[in-house]
Amino acid sequence: MIFNFDKFFYNKTVRGEFSDNDSCRMAAYFAQNGLCYVTFRPLESGERELHHRLPKSFGGKDEAENLILLTRDVHKMVHTENFEEFYTLREKCRLTQYQLALVNQLRYEAHRTPVSVKAEVLRNG
Ligand SMILES: [Zn+2]
Repeated sequence: MIFNFDKFFYNKTVRGEFSDNDSCRMAAYFAQNGLCYVTFRPLESGERELHHRLPKSFGGKDEAENLILLTRDVHKMVHTENFEEFYTLREKCRLTQYQLALVNQLRYEAHRTPVSVKAEVLRNG
């Protein structure tokens, strides 16, 4: 799910309309101290996106334990099924092995193809 965090909060703040789901979104932000869940880099305005660990299409809920905030590029890495795009983003984000393992864990939870499997497919093909 692609979520425009800043626009959402700005509109809600102006109108004073906060729901339980909004509280979860804010909880995710503050639980991570405003840092990306994978890279620990500051989540810049317009670069932060909300991710459902278990997608809504698989029954995932808008609950704090199912929501994390990622930078836009890392979020793309979690969702893309385009092998080339994944490795382009990997270069751009300069992820460590640990961070890459985290991305793979998130892909697993989101029912995406594990990247290691894709690498083998490409090598064998
Ligand atoms: Zn997502």
